[in-house]
Amino acid sequence: MPHPALSYAAPSAKAPLAPFKLDRRAPGTTDVLIEIAYCGVCHSDLHQAREDWGPALFPMVPGHEMVGHVTAVGAQVGKFKVGDRVGVGCMLDSCRRCESCAAGEEQFCSAGASMSYNGYEQDGKTMTFGGYSQRITVDEAFVVRVPEGMPLDRAAPLLCAGITTYSPLKRFGAGPGKRVAVMGLGGLGHVGVRVARAMGAEVTVISTSQSKRADAAELGAQDFLVSTDPKAMKAAAGRFDLILDTVSAVHDLNSALNLLRTDGTLVLVGVPEQALPVQPFALIGRRRRLAGSLIGGIAETQEMLDFCAEHGVLADIETVAMADINQAWERLLKNDVRYRFVIDMATLKA
Ligand code: NAP
Ligand code: ZN
Ligand code: ZN
Repeated sequence: MPHPALSYAAPSAKAPLAPFKLDRRAPGTTDVLIEIAYCGVCHSDLHQAREDWGPALFPMVPGHEMVGHVTAVGAQVGKFKVGDRVGVGCMLDSCRRCESCAAGEEQFCSAGASMSYNGYEQDGKTMTFGGYSQRITVDEAFVVRVPEGMPLDRAAPLLCAGITTYSPLKRFGAGPGKRVAVMGLGGLGHVGVRVARAMGAEVTVISTSQSKRADAAELGAQDFLVSTDPKAMKAAAGRFDLILDTVSAVHDLNSALNLLRTDGTLVLVGVPEQALPVQPFALIGRRRRLAGSLIGGIAETQEMLDFCAEHGVLADIETVAMADINQAWERLLKNDVRYRFVIDMATLKA
């Protein structure tokens, strides 16, 4: 028997989110059924529902920062039992056979991972629906454990914002003796600051205004740079080993690249809706590298959660009722959230 799930969906790119009923499949042998307690609101939800990145699938139930409790398990589920505290991020499945899947990097699955929404299951035809919903059925291989003691609401954003910052910070060497800058202090950025500090790096926040200076210091950043202040940007030239660029809108990459030292790396995780022109000399002049990074694999997501639990890294959140999601999206667009909206699914009632 399928499990009905009240949800919120965008009916089309122009329309606001509205109540929507869907059926979650009855758990198969390796599936778990999860009662979603909280779901974070990522800027990617907005980009996709508004078709910033191109044509999307509707109706769209966004949400890929889900945490909750297991309420049923399939006969062969080994990792989880009823009552466990679990999380689901940006992926629900992948081919599990290709080179990337074998390497634990399901996000690069050559057959295409099944993203949590705006995508299809591995059959290529069943649409996926995300976490703005009461419950979801997911194969246990794509479910992670939320460590004991972590509050579920503040842990929810780690399922996307956490892994998306942890993975490149680790891969590109954030650590003791390294100067790391986090550009864009939003949902991703504020978690990135905490993760980079926990890794032992010296951290600077690069923001468009002075307004988040005190918050940056409270998050642990040692320095603060305003990207709209050309004098300050010039004075900081050649300073950083690594820049994590989380900016969601079109911005000047060249002035950011200029902040890197020789052999420094700027890693893009933000996905503005248009191309970002690069001046060759901004790279060539100091053998700089421009890289990109996409979430992280399932094993690394568990590693990130365990790391965050050990170091006390959580998101700063504002909890919203499901019915207030459209206002929350408008505020997110206006950069008016400190620093992640999290939907309380208990507010989603028939
Ligand atoms: P967010 O909370 O809206 O934060 C984005 C930040 O970018 C803002 O807080 C702001 O920081 C800065 N910003 C906004 N408009 C700007 C502009 N016009 N010029 C310069 N800076 C601007 O968004 P988020 O949820 O953290 O997501 C950030 C981006 O990452 C989005 O594009 C999202 O789609 C993408 N993303 C990518 C991945 C991946 O796997 N690569 C995963 C998740 C999300 P200041 O106020 O400090 O300037
Ligand atoms: Zn996201
Ligand atoms: Zn694969």
